[in-house]
Amino acid sequence: MAEQTCLFCKIVAGAIPAAKLFEDDRAVAFGDINPQAPTHALVIPRAHVASLNEASAEDEALLGHLLVVAARVAREAGHSEGGFRTVINTGADAGQSVFHVHVHVLGGRRLTWPPG
Ligand code: AMP
Ligand code: ZN
Repeated sequence: MAEQTCLFCKIVAGAIPAAKLFEDDRAVAFGDINPQAPTHALVIPRAHVASLNEASAEDEALLGHLLVVAARVAREAGHSEGGFRTVINTGADAGQSVFHVHVHVLGGRRLTWPPG
């Protein structure tokens, strides 16, 4: 069961603490434990989806919801005007380290492009 082994499922279940910024019936947002910018939040679905590779057509609305929540978190952190970045790492080459899909929300400093 993913809930027993997956770090982010444990955060959803409250078994591991997190600095929660937002939650509703489908998503949870919390601060990244190793922030790469003044604002660095993660937005995750309550349901376990390992990565975009495992996402299906049934997940379309959920994935869209994660982006709306990401924008809300960025707005509440004061980054609507200045801007912010959303990132979804998928698989080894992208550096995905937690296999429960998550949207990084980065803001509060000038971000360079292309990413490393
Ligand atoms: P990724 O490398 O895209 O899979 O991102 C995983 C992110 O999860 C990294 O930025 C980690 O710093 C973050 N992370 C790992 N463990 C925790 C935790 N217990 N609470 C909050 N963020 C975490
Ligand atoms: Zn999970």
